[in-house]
Amino acid sequence: MRIARFSIDGNVAFGAVEGEGTGDPAGLVLDIIKGIPYADFELSGTKVPLSKVRLLPPVLPNKVVGIGRNYAEHAAELGNEVPEVPVAFLKPTTSVIGSGDAIEYPSFSTEVHYEAELAVVIGRMCREVPRERVRDVILGYTCANDVTARDAQRREKQWSRAKGFDTSCPLGPWVETDLDPSDLAIQCTVNGEQRQLGRTSEMIRSIEDLVVHITEAMTLLPGDVILTGTPAGVGPLTVGDEVAVTIEGIGTLTNKVIKRG
Ligand code: MG
Repeated sequence: MRIARFSIDGNVAFGAVEGEGTGDPAGLVLDIIKGIPYADFELSGTKVPLSKVRLLPPVLPNKVVGIGRNYAEHAAELGNEVPEVPVAFLKPTTSVIGSGDAIEYPSFSTEVHYEAELAVVIGRMCREVPRERVRDVILGYTCANDVTARDAQRREKQWSRAKGFDTSCPLGPWVETDLDPSDLAIQCTVNGEQRQLGRTSEMIRSIEDLVVHITEAMTLLPGDVILTGTPAGVGPLTVGDEVAVTIEGIGTLTNKVIKRG
């Protein structure tokens, strides 16, 4: 099931996306969910066309945990070794935007990069998750763009500003709950030109490894998000660009880059 979060006439709701297609809303319909998708829920049968709503970030995470350098070719392209222990960082909730929202180019950077990533959405509160239980705590998967101020990342020892500025975490367009994430094509385009193309099977640490590693340290809550790292091909965005992240079996997350007003 594809679960979207959206607003219509000033109300916010979750809905199950029905119909064929991955990115183009034409022909897609939302069946409004009664309640929230983290527990048992029912579909209301009340349907609205996707073209009539504004998509919101598909979840409102309590936290977004990023993982750095989880694809060998990407680590190499920035002159980095693959780390012995996974590098984890946090992106604040104020960085999260949905598909169709604008990425605001921050004033402190002149080198903002896209990073297409598979995002894991947590479905239940969990801590110290054993490897064999990892699939039980996952609600589903969505597309993410781990937008990064690369110059600030080089200059500053911690990445809080470089990866945490407002609008630096596009998520969407929805959460796909029925998906084997182990070998999916992941692509980034800028203005329609392909910049990244990888497969999730190239991850150095698997989703199981990452959930075990993160929950050794912290409790994850329903709606929390893990960004699993980006394949090779990262590069700059400029004001006016349209950047799109497409993951096989999920859909396309599209955002324009604007100057911060
Ligand atoms: Mg990243």
